[in-house]
Amino acid sequence: MAEDMQGKEIAENNDPLAAEIRDTDIVFDCPYCGKSLVIDYRGAGLQIPCSDCGKSVLVPIPEGMELNDLDLDPGEILKQLFATRKNFQKAELEIQSLKTRLSQLQEALTVMQAVVAEGLK
Ligand SMILES: [Zn+2]
Repeated sequence: MAEDMQGKEIAENNDPLAAEIRDTDIVFDCPYCGKSLVIDYRGAGLQIPCSDCGKSVLVPIPEGMELNDLDLDPGEILKQLFATRKNFQKAELEIQSLKTRLSQLQEALTVMQAVVAEGLK
């Protein structure tokens, strides 16, 4: 049971759509586009792609935090990187399917408008 809870929490941490900011999150601005970025404290000192402009940005290390404090083995860090990359891919697929859906809806709207215009004659 406890394991399930933990798994869920990690999944939520990796969700790029999760808007909730935790106390432990690092909040900083992209130096290229100024977009406000939020990342889990464990990402301190890592290079991540900006969610807005896609450029590689270095996550600042909060004052008083030592990288050693993160206490993560390289395997754990890699796992997080892979999970992040997978989430980006998933998000892009979702964007694609939403775009397809949008154009379908726009077509349907055009048809409906034509029907309404016909009915008003
Ligand atoms: Zn940016």
